Amino acid sequence: MTLSEKDTLYNWHPYTQHKTAFTHPVIIKGEGALLWDENEKEYIDAIASWWVNPFGHSNRFMADAIYKQLTTLEHVLFGGFTHKKAIALSEKLAKILPSNQKKFFYSDNGSTAVEVAIKVALQYFHNKGEKKTKIIAFENAFHGDTFGAMAASGISFFTEAFQGSLLEVVRIPVPTKGNEENSLKTFEDLLKTNEYAAFLFEPLVQGAAGMVMYAPEVLDQLIHVAKENNVFTIADEVMTGFGKTGKNFACDYLQEQPDMMCLSKALTGGTIPMAVTSFTNEIYDAFYDDDTSKALFHGHTFTANPTGCAAALAAIELLESSEMQTNIQEVNKQHLAFQKQIETHPKVKTTRVLGVIFALEIHVDSQQDYYGALRNKLYSFFIENGVILRPVGNVIYILPPYVISKKHLDKIYTTIEKALAII
Ligand SMILES: *Cc1c(COP(=O)(O)O)cnc(C)c1O
Repeated sequence: MTLSEKDTLYNWHPYTQHKTAFTHPVIIKGEGALLWDENEKEYIDAIASWWVNPFGHSNRFMADAIYKQLTTLEHVLFGGFTHKKAIALSEKLAKILPSNQKKFFYSDNGSTAVEVAIKVALQYFHNKGEKKTKIIAFENAFHGDTFGAMAASGISFFTEAFQGSLLEVVRIPVPTKGNEENSLKTFEDLLKTNEYAAFLFEPLVQGAAGMVMYAPEVLDQLIHVAKENNVFTIADEVMTGFGKTGKNFACDYLQEQPDMMCLSKALTGGTIPMAVTSFTNEIYDAFYDDDTSKALFHGHTFTANPTGCAAALAAIELLESSEMQTNIQEVNKQHLAFQKQIETHPKVKTTRVLGVIFALEIHVDSQQDYYGALRNKLYSFFIENGVILRPVGNVIYILPPYVISKKHLDKIYTTIEKALAII
């Protein structure tokens, strides 16, 4: 049996209709921005393997840090014990996150980071004897696939089967250019009732929606209004965190500070599954009590796994290096140049750039499904041409490892241009 046949026999892949899916390439090696399959075909990883890998595949610095930790202390339970790497990582996060973020809760992935934030928001008010049980989120948001995170997600394709079993979430329009007033007004109207515990959002860029972008000024206004109304603000930076937007965090573009933040994906440089939810001291204090039942009874077996923490510390060290900061600026400059060249193309409706993120919307006559025919045609074309891009609906986006070479970035651009010619 070939590897592909064995894969089909055993593996159930994410977001995949196996009846119509084509065979998955078997990837056997990665280096920098490149991946190779079993037939030695080369692929450029133009989406950093779902936005997790800023420093390139099989990065030596990351591997060494992980190996060192694995041979010192691979894991210890975080209930009743602590360890050096979790302490060092929290100390580091307290330095680089917005200054009000003071307490850190570790988990395993982006969804659980969001899950923890939602539970903390709800329990905060429960502990204070207030009844606030609903959440506000943006239309077309994506916050993950576990029940709480899924409830907050607005892409109906992902959540249709579970309506009726979900936490109550009310949506406001995304404040994209021209929609700021509408978004703010809807938000203010909702807040006239006192039933909302939190407002959860992807700051500045909605990743899974197709890299939909909006301005920091209007997010500042929304956060301001939430604070006036005693509603927690939760910045889900699972996608935007660690340099993607050109600053360490999307929230670094803001004047206001969120009450909670969710981080994962690039947290460990794309090596080890890990996440963290950060909080203000004020939130932590509402759980700090002689009464045991006021504690946060949430945990994961691998909470604050030392190997994950060591990987995160190494990743932040790389992110902060002047070399990596230069890489981020370089990718941004090249995106801007490509944007200028492609935005007048007759098949292009709009383009957007922030940091290392580039997105292009194709002119279409009718509404395109998230995993529709146009998307599938584009996806296949890119894979055939050795470029890993996963368009959503009619949006093609690029989010490459920061270490990508100019040559490979150029190949991504020319492949997109070729794709526009065949559709
Ligand atoms: C990917 C993502 C998540 C979910 O993270 P997982 O690790 O896939 O569970 C949550 N929020 C945002 C903004 C994301 O992009």
